[in-house]
Amino acid sequence: MRPVSDRRGYLAIDLGPSRLAAGVLSGDGDVVLRDRVATPPRNVWPALTQLVRRVIAANPSDVVPVVAGVTCPGPIDRGTGAMKPVGLPMWHDFPLRRELGATTGLPVFVDTAGRGLAWAELWRGASSELPEDERFLATLALGDDVDGALVAGGRLLDGLTHNLGQFGHLIVEPDGAPCPCGAFGCLTAYAGVRAIEAATGRELRRTPAAHVDNVGIMVGRACATIAAMFDVGEIVVGGAVAEVLGAPFFDALAREFEQRSRLGHLGDMRVRGVASGQVGPLIAAAAVARASHDVTLAETSAPDEPSGGAPADVSVD
Ligand SMILES: [Zn+2]
Repeated sequence: MRPVSDRRGYLAIDLGPSRLAAGVLSGDGDVVLRDRVATPPRNVWPALTQLVRRVIAANPSDVVPVVAGVTCPGPIDRGTGAMKPVGLPMWHDFPLRRELGATTGLPVFVDTAGRGLAWAELWRGASSELPEDERFLATLALGDDVDGALVAGGRLLDGLTHNLGQFGHLIVEPDGAPCPCGAFGCLTAYAGVRAIEAATGRELRRTPAAHVDNVGIMVGRACATIAAMFDVGEIVVGGAVAEVLGAPFFDALAREFEQRSRLGHLGDMRVRGVASGQVGPLIAAAAVARASHDVTLAETSAPDEPSGGAPADVSVD
């Protein structure tokens, strides 16, 4: 058997209103075990605890999780590791980090899906191949809800309340559909799984073609705003909506973006999907743990005490 220092891995957990997922990943970010359950309408936390215990018990590999990463709908309170997702008041202020720490005995780090996607891109995505000071990207995670993140010069930027990048609440349609946040016309109200399924009355994978186009148009508008504001090299779009709606969605997005984004210096900016298998939700959750824990798991240093989550100034390699 390999020495423990080679077997250190991650416990990864991704939470959403429709499903809870957990897995064990190697130190390189390869998924060695995964499991999921539908999110129950109430009593979410006992279901999550049960899932996590099941994953730990079922882990057949010689990978030993030494740190846990969690991605969840934002906004969050990274100081306490509590979630505050819009439209899900029953999830608010549950001490997620403390409870998962007690269940697993591991340091636990919590961040939003959009920031997890950014950490994962910097770890395993195409961005990881660029020199650090050339890494300028925004992410859009189109899951049950929509959020994002911003990386400038290799650093994932933060905000006053640690929630920079809630791009799901960019207004893409004035006087548009109501958003769970209380505003109208937010991107989440058009491009989140919950919103799409509510609008069409169908499962996401059965979204009619015309509606797929509409989702692409709304995301294209949001991308034009993000590009103009932040002067990034690329916008990386991930999450279930991007994955399931696929090429027709990205075609509509690209057409709209092209029309709306006219600034000359953004001519080379591109909007792209994530590379399949490199940057999935569990990899994003593990990436949160990796960035927060600030350790390459091949190294032998012991886990640190849990802290407030992914710091903005951790440099990644
Ligand atoms: Zn909103």
